[in-house]
Amino acid sequence: MLVVAKDTIEESSTEYAQGGIAVALSGDDNFRLHQLDTLMAGDGLCFEPAVAALVQEGPGRIEELIDWGANFDKENGEYLRAREGAHSVSRVLHAGGDSTGHEIAGTLWRKAAALPGLSFVSFAAVTDLLLADGAVTGAVAYDQKRKQRIDIHARAVLLATGGAGQLYRNTTNPSVATGDGIGMAYRVGAEVADIEFVQFHPTALFVPGRPRFLLSEALRGEGALLRNIHGERFMHRYHDMQELAPRDVVSRAIVAEMQSTAATHVLLDLTHKPAAWIRQRFPRIYETCLSFGIDLARQPAPVHPAAHYLMGGVRTDLQGRTTIPGLYAAGEAACTGVHGANRLASNSLLEGVVFGARAGHAMSQEAAKPFRGLTFGDEQFPALSREALQDLAWEGCGIARDAAGMQRVLRTIDEGGRQHLSDPGRGDYERRNLATVLRLVAKAALLRQESRGGHYRTDFPGKSPAARHSSLRRGQPTVLLEWETTSPAKP
Ligand SMILES: Cc1cc2nc3c(=O)[nH]c(=O)nc-3n(C[C@H](O)[C@H](O)[C@H](O)COP(=O)(O)OP(=O)(O)OC[C@H]3O[C@@H](n4cnc5c(N)ncnc54)[C@H](O)[C@@H]3O)c2cc1C
Repeated sequence: MLVVAKDTIEESSTEYAQGGIAVALSGDDNFRLHQLDTLMAGDGLCFEPAVAALVQEGPGRIEELIDWGANFDKENGEYLRAREGAHSVSRVLHAGGDSTGHEIAGTLWRKAAALPGLSFVSFAAVTDLLLADGAVTGAVAYDQKRKQRIDIHARAVLLATGGAGQLYRNTTNPSVATGDGIGMAYRVGAEVADIEFVQFHPTALFVPGRPRFLLSEALRGEGALLRNIHGERFMHRYHDMQELAPRDVVSRAIVAEMQSTAATHVLLDLTHKPAAWIRQRFPRIYETCLSFGIDLARQPAPVHPAAHYLMGGVRTDLQGRTTIPGLYAAGEAACTGVHGANRLASNSLLEGVVFGARAGHAMSQEAAKPFRGLTFGDEQFPALSREALQDLAWEGCGIARDAAGMQRVLRTIDEGGRQHLSDPGRGDYERRNLATVLRLVAKAALLRQESRGGHYRTDFPGKSPAARHSSLRRGQPTVLLEWETTSPAKP
């Protein structure tokens, strides 16, 4: 088995996940409550069998991680459970205060590295999938050190390539999150679903010219308050749950407040909490803010929304199978239907461990594939720069969208033209995927004439009565369709 990563093995969204992992362990919580919260956040579009698998298998996967050495935070021998937005009870486990993803990724890496027959290759960007007789038989990677192509033949390929936050000018995602798996899967004809649902995190640190560092929802869960630049609290005017309202509501409220005060940001205020507690509960966040000159114990942090999570992706069944034989997807690259139109905070790490394990099990049952296959990629690359694509996405497919903006996105990508590159590098392959994914987001968002979850249209602010999923396949019209709620997606 081969694990291929285009940067260091560590560099990933998982590495930066702060808040924690949601799981119904015991006490005042149970599967049903976790399921209900997930369905409520998903705004009518969750695929219920997937949600059931997530909440029921979650505790077992967490126990497995603990057996493998994961060290979740405890007090008096009990796991600490934090409360986050739209959760009805405290159920979010965390590690190192705010370094949960780092702990989980490290645990998985140590476990995997100790297994026989498993190797790792870093700084190799997978650029295309190999296809023979309609099935995926491997992948092609670009070795960035040797600047050469590597052909990898495999019984099955799992896309665990993460999300596409780099589509946007403002994002909490690391630079590797360029939607590569989605772009590659779409090129070989796999179905992509619900890609228009992008979650914008309401509170990314706003320091001009610096990356948008995430200020976790857990801060608001622990009592941080949102204020406009005049120091006034405002969330009570937008939602009963105030600071803990669903993320899309909080993001739009912040944008409205920024507009009405003609400001570039609002403020996140934790100054009423004891300084020692802030430093102990959120050590990484506290230190990072301090490095930007902001002492959270003494002053509120300037924040504004940033692209954070992609609910849609490559459509899979409950075993991680995509619609192309031999091709699997898990984690943020996949669309299992668990998140519906909006992800419940801290459900994504859980989705990764639950459906990653399911996909791994299914892949181990795959028969050997022919040692051949052709790429279906094209060597044409968009002429638009990464920055131009990011600005286009932010303006046309951002927090609040309308038909004119999305049509402009599609037109600009088409008019931007394409170029042949004789010696493309990782950045060019990433740009090709960003352009593909942006087109898909714009097409699906244009077709969805309603507002639901993470997708808000100023020209269609209401929700349509039918909950339908967008479906995009290369060479076929984009459609909205219902998924059968009693059986998983059939390849
Ligand atoms: C700042 C931040 C905080 C978050 N906090 C939380 C939280 O508290 N709780 C929670 O549940 N979720 C959180 N999330 C979301 C969650 O972290 C992600 O959804 C999840 O970790 C995604 O895991 P993944 O394995 O799908 O992708 P990733 O962890 O992003 O891993 C993708 C991997 O694929 C590699 N890759 C990508 N393309 C290629 C290619 N072409 N070739 C080779 N390798 C490639 C990348 O380099 C990377 O190693 C957070 C996200 C961010 C950005």
